[in-house]
Amino acid sequence: MIDFIEEAQNIEDQIIEWRRELHKIPEVGLETPKTRKFIENELDKMDIKYETGYAENGLVALIEKEDNQEEYKTFAIRTDMDGLEVKEETGLPFSSEHEGKMHACGHDAHMAMALGAAKIISENREEFGGNIKILFQPGEEGAGGGEQMVKDGALKNPDVDAIIGLHIGGIFDKVGPGKIGVGDGPMMACIDKFQMKVIGKGGHGAMPNTGVDPIAISASIIENIQTLISREISPVRPGVISVCQINGGSAFNVIPGEVTMKGTARFIHQKEREEISNRFEEMCRKIAESRNAELEFEYEYGYPPLVNPAEFTNFFKECAQDLLNNEDVIQLEEPIMGGEDMAYYLREVPGTFFFLGGQKEVEGEFHGHHNSKFDIDENVFWKGTALFTKTAYEWFRKN
Ligand SMILES: [Zn+2]
Ligand SMILES: [Zn+2]
Repeated sequence: MIDFIEEAQNIEDQIIEWRRELHKIPEVGLETPKTRKFIENELDKMDIKYETGYAENGLVALIEKEDNQEEYKTFAIRTDMDGLEVKEETGLPFSSEHEGKMHACGHDAHMAMALGAAKIISENREEFGGNIKILFQPGEEGAGGGEQMVKDGALKNPDVDAIIGLHIGGIFDKVGPGKIGVGDGPMMACIDKFQMKVIGKGGHGAMPNTGVDPIAISASIIENIQTLISREISPVRPGVISVCQINGGSAFNVIPGEVTMKGTARFIHQKEREEISNRFEEMCRKIAESRNAELEFEYEYGYPPLVNPAEFTNFFKECAQDLLNNEDVIQLEEPIMGGEDMAYYLREVPGTFFFLGGQKEVEGEFHGHHNSKFDIDENVFWKGTALFTKTAYEWFRKN
């Protein structure tokens, strides 16, 4: 039996060092070749084999159980690799060396913790009762890397039987530094996008009767779409629609010819997502038509809702309680309306996505995810690594 806390704490400095090196070289979307190269080098040093060709710059490391992999089950650890188009302002000595790009969400730490798990597992190979895959995935922040990894076969050959992933930082208020947040059922929302163009007829601001005012019509649309949430889905089933961008007009006395709007719609359950996405266009179109305007409308499905299956999640929670103090393992009762493309893997195989609290102050205050002064607490990294390895170990014992 391995002492997972001791193993992880023994390599804590190394995990922190990996994170700092990765923090210096943030890359965005699926374009993460330097990050891939870094991971490849580290895996080479550990003598762990891997395959590339997933989601452009993703890779899958495989720590096999002896030769005959068919007889064994396979457990996967998933991590994301991408940063954001943010100009870093933390002042950290290991700040981004890539102008205008930053690891402002903590994915640098995710990779470092997963590398730590790779190291512990590969050095204790015989203790684990099956194959372990470690999925390094680019493009979490909107580029759909997770979906692409699944399409490119990251969960196949050998087939993955269960998967685990985490997010560090300050996503849930009640998951403070060093605490673990875990919840089953739908935990994160889908991330859908919509855009529309209201086409009226421009004219003089003093003579609206001679035109069709797309600004007044857009105002009606914006107000009315909120009733999709408040009147058309159950009040106890979460949903949100936000118009986040609106453009139209160029002068104080000219009614423009058209107005464009963009926004996001989020649901925790697929049922409401389907119902509202259908009704959405119909409502906007009827409003526009009733006012003699035309409408162009597009609704695009993004990441699906993230659902943690109860059985695996309860098993994970027991592992976490076994490893850490009980009070450090927080049961999450409510989902959040943010999204995650870990959802794609969890549609295919059982597993769980959990949260590791660990924000750090910069200039005396906390700055949220995606902020140019976002930072994370390096003292909690060993916990992520210990949890990855402990869960894999226990899962093989149980299955
Ligand atoms: Zn993010
Ligand atoms: Zn993130």
